[in-house]
Amino acid sequence: MIRKILVANRGEIAIRVMRTCREMDILSVAVFSDADRTSMHVRYADEAYHIGPSPSVESYLNIDRIIDVAKRSGADAIHPGYGFLSENAQFSRRCREEGIIFIGPGPEAISTMGDKITARKTMIQAGIPVVPGTTEKITAENRAVGIIREIGLPVIIKASAGGGGKGMRLVHREEDILSAIRAAKSEAMAAFGDDSVYIEKYISSPHHIEFQILADNHGNVIHLFERECSIQRRHQKVIEETPSPLMTPEVREEMGKHAVAAAKEVNYSGAGTIEFIVDDHLNYFFLEMNTRLQVEHPITERVVGVDLVREQIHIANNQPLTYRQEELYQNGHAIECRIYAEDPDRDFMPSPGLIQHITEPLGFGVRHDGYVYEGFEIPIYYDPLISKLIVWGKNRTETIQRMKRALYAYKITGVKTTIKFLEKIMNAPDFVSGNYNTHFIEKNWDFLTDREKCLGDCMAVAIIAAYYDYMERMKAAQEKTGTGRTTGSWKFCGRKAGMSRY
Ligand code: ADP
Ligand code: ADP
Ligand code: MG
Repeated sequence: MIRKILVANRGEIAIRVMRTCREMDILSVAVFSDADRTSMHVRYADEAYHIGPSPSVESYLNIDRIIDVAKRSGADAIHPGYGFLSENAQFSRRCREEGIIFIGPGPEAISTMGDKITARKTMIQAGIPVVPGTTEKITAENRAVGIIREIGLPVIIKASAGGGGKGMRLVHREEDILSAIRAAKSEAMAAFGDDSVYIEKYISSPHHIEFQILADNHGNVIHLFERECSIQRRHQKVIEETPSPLMTPEVREEMGKHAVAAAKEVNYSGAGTIEFIVDDHLNYFFLEMNTRLQVEHPITERVVGVDLVREQIHIANNQPLTYRQEELYQNGHAIECRIYAEDPDRDFMPSPGLIQHITEPLGFGVRHDGYVYEGFEIPIYYDPLISKLIVWGKNRTETIQRMKRALYAYKITGVKTTIKFLEKIMNAPDFVSGNYNTHFIEKNWDFLTDREKCLGDCMAVAIIAAYYDYMERMKAAQEKTGTGRTTGSWKFCGRKAGMSRY
């Protein structure tokens, strides 16, 4: 039985994993880089070990260091979180060799699914619909024209080793195909050290819908329904929700069965996600499998009522799944907003730095998975995710209202954040109606960025002007009647300046 877990990650996901460890009376071990000495995950853990300099390659991606800490601390298992080493087959293999339990699938499943071309071939074998396209890497460039004539434009060129929204190129015109392939290959080589690319049909009006699955080491596989992740910027998810507004019970059941079959085909073990691309008519195609816990897993936890990290640990302990498929159902609705330290006014440039003030949203139906605190400096070295705001309601309308309330209450100063941008999305008619696809952000760009840009400054000027005006009049009134004021001046001036919400 696992008694001590090393969490090979940082930030919100490290803390999220440790919370479940604590509930299960399992000790947690944190690892940290130079930049993360004062990070909350270090404070939250039962033990913490320094593993190297700030750049990830020298710390969170350093397999030897992490294995060494696991041994020194006596951890019997490693949880990799998401990102970093979570989808690294070599790391999973190394853990196995060293007699440490890797909380995730074996190296075989990670390799098969991590290489998108191999994954496509494997899924075709399993009878799962995949996006029309090539099943071999593109070598002879001159064949490419023939291929695109066969599958039809537009197409997308993808890196077989791709991830994180990187290594993709859209092609609309036949004459662009060769230069696009060359560019994609060199980009893939630079980003992933592997220049294999393949061609896929570009699905128009695409929806990204994924299924959460759980598989134990005894041949049991279940799915925990879908997550709609079509609100994306540069192929990266921004907001996720479940259930999907697009889904029907029939298609849900069918896709769920395919997701389970996909996991069975690779003898999967642990928690995983099968991503599908879905067109307007609910035709769906396998996109890729993520062989790890997903950033957006909490919305599934909330609606299905299952702690996915607890299940991962059970599975790693060789125990059979706690749930049968028939026992699971979706209760209400959940939405997650990813809160980033980015500046929406400067093309979402990362905005790391010192958190001067933070007020986290609380209240019924609100979950906030974060890690920053007042006085913490968000490092420049890693993903600028600050936290994830997850909100539940009994239906979609109630959930949107609650998310708006929670975003309104969420205050951070010191760094720029995406909070206001997310609030705009919650108010966008296409989002409210549930009628959106992956083009949502570009389609609604004007609406989303037409913020009252000077609102902060204008408001401050208005308040000061109103305050002086008020003081003048108070003076005049006092001179006349000798009475004082009854309302606090800041509140009074604020109301005067039109801040009726206060
Ligand atoms: P999810 O599907 O769970 O939302 P993302 O694609 O957003 O996952 O990736 C989760 C994290 O992992 C992000 O920080 C992302 O930048 C990182 N990531 C994902 N794939 C890769 C990869 N192949 N190489 C490097 N980082 C990656
Ligand atoms: P990553 O490994 O970077 O997550 P994915 O293959 O999951 O890459 O694709 C990421 C996103 O890119 C999808 O969610 C979708 O928005 C878009 N995309 C990928 N393939 C297609 C396609 N064939 N047609 C339309 N959109 C696509
Ligand atoms: Mg993906």
